[in-house]
Amino acid sequence: MFFSNLKHSPKGGAGRGLLILLLALGAMQVSAQDLAHYKRVIKELASAKYQGRGYAKGGANKAGKFLQKEYQKAGVDEVILQPFKLDINTFSGKMEMEALTSLNPNPSSKGEGKDRGRGDWKTLQPGVDFSMREYSPGVHGEFPVYHVDTLSYDADRMFADLAKPEYANCLVACEFWFTYRHSKDFQRLQKAGECNNAGLIYTWPAPIKFFKAYGHRVVDKPIIWVTPEAIKDVQRVRLNVDNKFLKDYECFNVIAKVEGQRHDSCYVFTAHYDHLGNLGKNVFYAGANDNASGTACIVTLAAYYAKHKPQYDMYFLSFSGEDANLRGSEFFANNPIVPLSQIKYLFNIDMIGDNSPVQYCEASEEGMRGYQLFEQINNEKHYFTNLHRGDLAANSDHYPYATRHVPCIFLENEKGDAFQYYHTIYDTYETVKFDSYEPVFRLVRDFIERY
Ligand SMILES: [Zn+2]
Repeated sequence: MFFSNLKHSPKGGAGRGLLILLLALGAMQVSAQDLAHYKRVIKELASAKYQGRGYAKGGANKAGKFLQKEYQKAGVDEVILQPFKLDINTFSGKMEMEALTSLNPNPSSKGEGKDRGRGDWKTLQPGVDFSMREYSPGVHGEFPVYHVDTLSYDADRMFADLAKPEYANCLVACEFWFTYRHSKDFQRLQKAGECNNAGLIYTWPAPIKFFKAYGHRVVDKPIIWVTPEAIKDVQRVRLNVDNKFLKDYECFNVIAKVEGQRHDSCYVFTAHYDHLGNLGKNVFYAGANDNASGTACIVTLAAYYAKHKPQYDMYFLSFSGEDANLRGSEFFANNPIVPLSQIKYLFNIDMIGDNSPVQYCEASEEGMRGYQLFEQINNEKHYFTNLHRGDLAANSDHYPYATRHVPCIFLENEKGDAFQYYHTIYDTYETVKFDSYEPVFRLVRDFIERY
C-alpha cells in the first residue's frame, strides 16, 4: 500500500526527498510495531498466569495455547499442535526450610521460657536462599547438618564421622563443585542403604539457581541447593518440601507455517516456550529471558513473513520441554512434519533478552557457510559489535538438528546485565532487556534475503 501510493509521485526534487523520508518513517514504524508486539508476548508469557511455564500447574500447556492463538492472529497459514509425553519431577506444593544457627543459652535473647536454650530458627526463602535439585524427592522433618571439611578433606574421616550416632539421619552440606570433583564419595551419600545420612545440601553462590534438565527421575535421598550464607554455621534444619513425579505427562510443540512461493525447501525458526515452573506453590520462575524472549522473537518473525510472503516455506517451531532436557526439539527431530533434509537453514533463538553488544552463536558443521554470511552481514551493517562463535553444545534446541546434519545456528545474546539472573526467580519482565531484539531480527531477515 505504501509503495502503490507513491508510484506516481514526481521524480527527483521534493518528491524523492519525501519518498526517502516516508521510507525511513515506514521502516521505523514497522520495527516499533514489532518491538511492541515482542514486549507484549514476553510480558504475557512471564506473567503469573503461566506459573513459569512448567508442568504441575499446567502453565506450559496454557502458554502453548496462547501461542497457538498468537500465531493465528499473526496471519500464518497453518498452526499445528504436536503432542509428546515426558516424565518429570515437580515441586508445586509445600516448600519450607528453617535453619538453626546455634543453640542459644543467652536468656536476654529472643528465646523465653520454655524456648530458652532452644536457639533461634530462621526461615529461609525458596528461590532466594534455597532451591531443590531437580531429581530430589520431597523431604519432611528435622535434621542435624554435617559440614564437610573441604580445606583438609579426608574421605575416610568423613565416612567415620557420619557413622557416629550424632550424625544419624543428618544432611551433609558441601560446596557443589567440591562434590563434583569427589563424585565417587558423594554418590555414595546419595544412595539408600550406603550411609546413615538423610540427604545432601549443595552450596551455590547467590542468586540460587534451579534446574529441570535431569528431572526425568527421582533419586533415593533429597538434595537441596542452599547459598553459602544461608547454611553457614547451621547446626540443624527443618524441611517441609513436597515433590510430585508426573509420569507420561502430555505437552506439545506449537508449529506455525507460512507458505512460500516454493515448497521444495524451507527455513525453520525454533524457540522453546517452556521454563522451570514452580518451586513450591508460591514461587514460580518467570523465564522472561529464558525463553519468553526467543519465543516472542519468532512470533514477530512469523507475523512479518505472513505479511511479506517469503520465497520458501517457513516453519516456526515453539518447543516445549527444552528446560527438561531438549524433549520437544528431540521429539520433532524424530517426528518431523517436513523432511530435515529440506531445511535450508534453521535458526534457534534462545535467551536474546539481554543488552550485550556481542551476539553469541553456535553453528553446526553444515551451518558454517551460513555463519560466514552472518558475519559478513554483521560487518556491513554493524548490528552487533561482533559475533562470538562458541563450540557446539547440547545446551539448546539446535543441538538435535546439528547432530542430524541440518545447517543451523544458535543465537543467544552474550552475557549482558540480564545473564546473572539465568535460571533464578529474578529472570522477570522487569529485568529482561530488549536491546538485542531488533539487531537479531534484522540479521536473520537480511540473511534470508541473501543466503
Ligand atoms: Zn533454560
